[in-house]
Amino acid sequence: KVVCVTGASGFIASWLVKLLLQHDYTVKATVRDPNDPKKTQHLLSLDGAKERLHLFKADLLEEGSFDSVVDGCDGVFHTASPVAMDVVNPQAELIDPALKGTINVLRSCAKFPSVKRVVVTSSMAAVVFTGKPLTSEVLIDESWFSDPVLCKESKLWYVLSKTLAEEAAWKFSKENGIDMVTINPAWVIGPLIQPTLNLSAEVVLNLINDTLQQLMKISYRLVDVRDVANAHIQAYEIPEASGRYCLVEKDLHYSETVKILRKLYPELPLPEKCADDKPYAPSSRVSQEKVKSLGIHFTPLEVSLKDTVESLKEKNFVSF
Ligand code: NDP
Repeated sequence: KVVCVTGASGFIASWLVKLLLQHDYTVKATVRDPNDPKKTQHLLSLDGAKERLHLFKADLLEEGSFDSVVDGCDGVFHTASPVAMDVVNPQAELIDPALKGTINVLRSCAKFPSVKRVVVTSSMAAVVFTGKPLTSEVLIDESWFSDPVLCKESKLWYVLSKTLAEEAAWKFSKENGIDMVTINPAWVIGPLIQPTLNLSAEVVLNLINDTLQQLMKISYRLVDVRDVANAHIQAYEIPEASGRYCLVEKDLHYSETVKILRKLYPELPLPEKCADDKPYAPSSRVSQEKVKSLGIHFTPLEVSLKDTVESLKEKNFVSF
């Protein structure tokens, strides 16, 4: 079977490519710059890459850029989208590549009947910002859809980019008869395959360097990158899979995460107590009911955190 992965050099996509190769797929992977070894070397050295990985140059904002890649594929995994919080021009840096890029990829999928299913990497960002109150009694599920007006008013540009992209993807896929499934992960952590530091794993680095306790005094919904990659494959392989799948292992306050890290690494000078160490109260819960049908058994957060830290050490982003 031949599949395409867009944005293959990224954190999640690198794991997806690795697992797809392990599952004997032939992978047509898109990157923006195939000549940049930082974006390709880690992919080319994966098991099975020599025989079954093919790199293509494609850009989300170039119309028709994905045609030659998608042609002949049975499935397409669209993961490429900018992940950034501090941007100067949200339209150009986030919204255009997310929204126009997704439609660009789907347009290529609609052209080639070989494509049987498309799995799009959306986000919990496109789920939770509805304006409904988030209390511990609330159970969030796949029926929630973030409100773009609210995202815009709150200047949540990344959240807006993912919401608009998913909304447009559903409209386009329905109008064009594309069998599409979305995976909506929370904040993704876990070991890095790529040599560069991506934004979501950087949060763990910031946590262990946060001797001043300046960061993340909020709750984070977390999930392991290996579970996210696996969910993409299951959503592609299981014929009955449909709609959206929320992927959240745990909703954890900063102080709880620090507590786990302190237990794992007593040698780290992590604070006993956070400056705003309020009692832990999850803001809400996210249903794992639907994602169970993909056979996902979530990696426990303790394991994800340990493997992230070990990976950050191995790649010299931190030393202790
Ligand atoms: P990375 O930053 O590691 O990867 C993003 C990928 O998108 C890179 O390969 C990047 O290519 C590509 N990309 C960005 N802009 C363009 C463009 N204009 N044309 C082509 N490719 C482009 O991020 P993640 O792996 O974390 O994220 C992957 C997907 O998962 C995204 O859709 C993100 O929104 C989603 N997601 C991520 C979460 C997380 O916590 N990490 C949570 C929920 C969803 P290049 O390498 O060339 O820059």
